[in-house]
Amino acid sequence: MEAFEYNTNPGRVVFGSGSIKRLPDEVKRLNKSKPLLLSTPQQAEQVKALEPILKDASITPAGLYSNATMHTPTHVTDEALEYANKCGADCVISFGGGSTTGLGKAISIRTGLEHISIPTTYAGSEMTPILGETADGKKTTRSDPKILPGTVIYDVDFTMTLPESLSATSGVNAIAHAVEALYARNTNPIMNLLALEGTKALAESLPIIVNSPQDQDARSKAQYGAWLCAMCLGSVGMSLHHKLCHTLGGSFNMPHAETHTIVLPHAIAYNAPKIPETMKKLADVLPESDGDAIKGLNVLLTKLKVKRGLKDFGMKEEDVDKAAEIAVSNPYWNPRAIEKEPLRETIRRCWAGEEAK
Ligand code: NAD
Repeated sequence: MEAFEYNTNPGRVVFGSGSIKRLPDEVKRLNKSKPLLLSTPQQAEQVKALEPILKDASITPAGLYSNATMHTPTHVTDEALEYANKCGADCVISFGGGSTTGLGKAISIRTGLEHISIPTTYAGSEMTPILGETADGKKTTRSDPKILPGTVIYDVDFTMTLPESLSATSGVNAIAHAVEALYARNTNPIMNLLALEGTKALAESLPIIVNSPQDQDARSKAQYGAWLCAMCLGSVGMSLHHKLCHTLGGSFNMPHAETHTIVLPHAIAYNAPKIPETMKKLADVLPESDGDAIKGLNVLLTKLKVKRGLKDFGMKEEDVDKAAEIAVSNPYWNPRAIEKEPLRETIRRCWAGEEAK
């Protein structure tokens, strides 16, 4: 076995249907009593389910801030901070997807307030010490162990309302973390175990969810898979796939989970010649792959009935060149050298919605 380094992120996880009832105990464990609840405007009603659970344990939330926004704009964080100060919050509880988790992280790193995260998508931000923020239209990303939420409650019951299409794309977003962890420069056998188990759980459960969104066993399996994939994202470096998605999201305003879904098979196809072992391992956990990981991913995306082209989200053909230009500048480490022409062709295929091969 090759030598390796293994770093694990600290953090406490409470997993399972109904685990939200443990929320008051988790607040008390931190010796806190006035949590600020966070959500997006779309989940402003759903997050209110936490209030009676807290109040039954004599915890009155300091307040509710329901304006979490995609890509964590700093002016939103400033507004939330002002509110947190005014209402005397002594910890934050983020309830939602990566956008709300991002706001919880932004408040926590600025104030030192403890952060309990209740994820309701499969994006995985809750397991990472990474925070991406936008100011004046520019996105900057930083990593700091203090950004990692100290407690995460995975209660499948709050994922039951996640629309089928977002369940599908958010789940593939999670798989992308695992796939890139398999060939990361600093990967290790433990991450490989998590990545393969997480990918398998998601690849098996997502097609069931798309057809039967109320299937709680499938939802639970998907959330378990998303957790493992998120641990990969939080522990090892990401490569071409994530670089392309950050470029497309940051510079062309492409939607987060949908872009990950479109790009994944193409990014893997680009890297395939340099990662034969990974391709074999991946094929083994993707149903109906017949030993071919790209085929397995294509089959999965077909079953998930997702959009396959960036043009479906408004990207213009002339932006393909610009995207290739940006993606080759400051590239992340990647198993295959980043060459502009083949990369341009990869982005063109993503734009056109062609199948990866
Ligand atoms: P999101 O948080 O923006 O959520 C998308 C929409 O779905 C929102 O309107 C949200 O309220 C709604 N929603 C979420 N859960 C729901 C549920 N169970 N039922 C009904 N509606 C629900 O989307 P996302 O894909 O989870 O997160 C994307 C953001 O997270 C991006 O800004 C991305 O950069 C960031 N992200 C960061 C990291 C990190 O490690 N820092 C990791 C992954 C994602």
